[in-house]
Amino acid sequence: MVVWRRELLRLTLLVLLGAWVGMPFEQVFGGISAALAVYAVLHVRRLVQLRMWLEHPKRQDLPELGGLWGQVFDGLLELQRKSRKKKKKLAAMLAEFQASTAALPDGAVVLGHSGEISWFNNAARTLLGLRVPQDIGIRVPNLVRHPVFTAYFEEGRFDNEVEVPSPVNRTKTLSLRVIPYGQNQRLLIVRDISQRLLLDAARRDFVSNASHELRTPLTVLRGYLDMMEHDAQGQGVLAPWHAPLTEMRNQALRMESLVNDMLKLARLESGRARMSDDLLDVPALVRRAVDDAKALSKEQHRFELECDDTLTMTGGETELLSILANLVNNAVRYTPPGGVIRVTWAKAPEGGRFAVADSGIGIAQEDIPRLTERFFRVDVGRSRASGGTGLGLSIVKHSLEAFDARMDIESEIGVGSTFICHFPAHRLVYRNAEKSANKIEGYI
Ligand code: ADP
Repeated sequence: MVVWRRELLRLTLLVLLGAWVGMPFEQVFGGISAALAVYAVLHVRRLVQLRMWLEHPKRQDLPELGGLWGQVFDGLLELQRKSRKKKKKLAAMLAEFQASTAALPDGAVVLGHSGEISWFNNAARTLLGLRVPQDIGIRVPNLVRHPVFTAYFEEGRFDNEVEVPSPVNRTKTLSLRVIPYGQNQRLLIVRDISQRLLLDAARRDFVSNASHELRTPLTVLRGYLDMMEHDAQGQGVLAPWHAPLTEMRNQALRMESLVNDMLKLARLESGRARMSDDLLDVPALVRRAVDDAKALSKEQHRFELECDDTLTMTGGETELLSILANLVNNAVRYTPPGGVIRVTWAKAPEGGRFAVADSGIGIAQEDIPRLTERFFRVDVGRSRASGGTGLGLSIVKHSLEAFDARMDIESEIGVGSTFICHFPAHRLVYRNAEKSANKIEGYI
C-alpha cells in the first residue's frame, strides 16, 4: 500500500513541477502534459525491459529498482525462482521414475490415444525388440503382430492377459497385459513367462508319469487282493483275514481311482488346446451317463431326464463324458435315498445348457467358489465313503474350459444343488427334428 501512495505522490509532484515550469510561460497545462509524457515514457521503458526479459529470461537481467516496478520485478523473479525449483524437482522425480521402471524385469510400454508407443523401458526393448527412435509413435499392434494380441488389443477388453510367442525369439512365450489409465492412455506390461510354462509342464509331466508308473504295481496288487479276498470268504486259512483284505482291496480301488483322475487332469491340462472337434451324439452320451448313475444309485433315487434330441454339439467325447458322468454321479453320491435327480440337455438363449439338479444335502454358499479346487471336499469323510477323489469337479472345470464353456452352481443346504453348464452357441449343431424335442422321461 505504501508503494502505491509513494507512486501517487511522485505523480502529483511531477504534475506540480510541470505546472510550475509552465506557469512563467502561461502554459500550465502544457507543463502538466509534458510532465505526464515524461511519466509515461518512464513506464514504457520499464515495460520494454520487462518484455525483453520475458523473451530471454536467461540473457537479460531485470534492473534492481525501488517503487512499484521494483516490486513487480521482484515478484516476477521470485516466481521464476520457485518455478525453476519445481521444474528441477519434477525432472529429478521423472528421472528417478524412469530409472526405476527401466530397471524393472518386466517390460513397460506407455501407449498414446490410438495405441501408439510414447515410451518404453529396457526390458520392453529386449522382450519385444523395440528400437529408439524408430518405433516411437508406431501403433503397438503393428509391431507385436500376433492374431491373438491384435484381437485382444482391438477388442479393448483388458480384464485379463494374453500369451503370445515372443516376436524376437519364437521359443519364448510372453504374457501381455494392457492397463488403461488417465484419459484414454494405456500401459502395456510384458512378462517373459517361458520359465513358468516350462516349470508347469515339468510338474504336469511329473504327475502324469508318476500316476502312470503307479498304475502297474496297483493293478498287480489289486489282482492278488481280489484273489485273496475271494479265498478269505470261505473257511480256508485266509478266513480270519477277510475284513482286513476287504479294506485293503477298497483302499487299492481308491488309489486306482485317484491315479486315474490325476492322469485325466494332467492330460486335460496339457492338451487343453488339442481337444478333438468331432460331431458328438450328446443326447446318447447324456443317456449313457444317466444309465451309469442309475446303476450307482441302485434304484434309490428317482431320475428325470429332459433331453432335446435334435440338439448336439462338436467337441471331444472323453471330455464331455467326464463332465456328464462326474456331475450326475455326484448328484447320486450327495443325495440321500429317495431323492430326485433331474438332468436337462436343452437349448438356451446363449447356447446349449446341460444341468443336473438334485434334492440332496446341498452346499454352503461360502464353499461354492472352492468346489472346483483340486482335493476340495466339504465333508472329507462323506466324499471318501462314497468313493470320491476330490478331483471330479476339477476335471469338470478343465473339460469345460476345453469346450469354452462355463458352469454355474446354485445350492442350498438341505434343499439341493443345481450344476448348470453353458456351452457356447458356436459348438451347437441341430439335427432334423424327427425325434421329439424336450421329451420328459421319468425313471424310477
Ligand atoms: P468328490 O470326489 O469329493 O466328490 P468333487 O470334486 O466331485 O470331489 O466334488 C467336490 C466336493 O463338492 C465334494 O466333496 C462335495 O463336498 C461337493 N459336492 C459336489 N457335488 C455335490 C452335490 N451334488 N451336492 C452336494 N455337494 C456336492
